[in-house]
Amino acid sequence: MPPGVERADVVIVGGGIVGASIAYHLAARGVRDVVVLERDELGSGSTTRNAGGVRLQFSTEINVRLSLRSLPRIEHFAEEMGVDPQLRQVGYLFLITEERDVGPFEESLAMWKRLGVPAQRLDAAGVHQLFPQLRVDDVRFATLCMRDGYCDPTSLLNGYVARAREKGARFREHEPAVGITRQGDRVTAVRTAKGEITCGTLVDAAGAWGAEVGKLAGVDLPIRPLRRQIFVTEPVAGLDRDFPLTVEFATSLYFHRESGGVLMGMADPTDSPGFDATVNWDFLPTLVERALYRLPILERANVKTGWAGFYEDTPDKHPIIGAIPGLEGFLCAAGFSGHGIMHAPAAGEAIAELVVDGRTSFDIAPLAYDRFRRGDLIKEHNVI
Ligand SMILES: Cc1cc2nc3c(=O)[nH]c(=O)nc-3n(C[C@H](O)[C@H](O)[C@H](O)COP(=O)(O)OP(=O)(O)OC[C@H]3O[C@@H](n4cnc5c(N)ncnc54)[C@H](O)[C@@H]3O)c2cc1C
Repeated sequence: MPPGVERADVVIVGGGIVGASIAYHLAARGVRDVVVLERDELGSGSTTRNAGGVRLQFSTEINVRLSLRSLPRIEHFAEEMGVDPQLRQVGYLFLITEERDVGPFEESLAMWKRLGVPAQRLDAAGVHQLFPQLRVDDVRFATLCMRDGYCDPTSLLNGYVARAREKGARFREHEPAVGITRQGDRVTAVRTAKGEITCGTLVDAAGAWGAEVGKLAGVDLPIRPLRRQIFVTEPVAGLDRDFPLTVEFATSLYFHRESGGVLMGMADPTDSPGFDATVNWDFLPTLVERALYRLPILERANVKTGWAGFYEDTPDKHPIIGAIPGLEGFLCAAGFSGHGIMHAPAAGEAIAELVVDGRTSFDIAPLAYDRFRRGDLIKEHNVI
């Protein structure tokens, strides 16, 4: 092989939770020659900038099924992977305050029952009993699933990377993919500043940058970066016990316990798609006003830090997992639309199966790239 040209069975572009999970699952299936290219450092994208939420409560069956497949992996991560993901199954509590959201959540409750999701409906009194500090006078009802909760994504990432490395996967930081070589309808190699890596399969796991990587191969992926911000308070006197990750669905405000304080997020409706990850502190008063309304005890707390990251938004809020028709050797695992931590285990399994077996052992047809061409979108309602 000429200098500057290497070979790998699979090259994964993106060293976040999704790329790491894919590398691990490939290595576990016996694919040893795997290279992960990361532009910056492992986890430097959205993987270390999120709320760590893990839930079964989605409005589409495919998202519920991705969660049902992923959650046991996270529940047993410490035994299987040797790293404790600090999963806290304190429940997700969706507060429904608007008439327009009643029907969709009633439908979801019926679907969850059919699929074995242990979610329950609570009235305002039940919510008060569960979480007395919450304001509930405007709550029409709530849904609660105690298998839901939150975890530490960095621990998940570290577990996948460590176990994948042991099995031979190579993670290369500060080495962006800058070009993709095609021969006709086949991807044959990835280019970096260090040279070319020829490969049997290239996987786009570049999260919010997924469309940019797709473009290198001539593929138009409908994935947009959407800034989302998180703010964390100092410890709050009187909030000493665990409480569910609570979502005020109508406004997208959510919060959970974090180091004795409270981690809060809410979508800024004035944000437009783009790669600006600076924190907009001017938005903080809007969020705080809403949080004080819902959880008045926060009056005692100061916000100590905040950060921003990107949702990798697709038009129907579902990821694109699988092949691109007409382009051999290119697989996509991006566009998780704010759910990539909790769905990374299933995504890794699915891509490894596609590489090794040529098909998946579970149905991912609704996540095919082709759905955009067919106009066959299934919209997720429960996006926060
Ligand atoms: C505020 C916020 C809250 C969130 N809350 C949750 C939550 O509660 N639960 C949940 O499941 N998800 C949540 N998410 C979403 C979650 O963080 C993402 O879905 C997940 O991190 C996606 O992982 P990834 O590996 O696909 O992408 P990333 O972690 O972004 O990794 C992609 C990597 O690709 C690299 N890259 C880009 N271009 C190139 C290139 N050309 N060559 C090499 N590498 C490249 C980047 O540097 C990056 O490290 C949240 C996100 C945000 C911003």
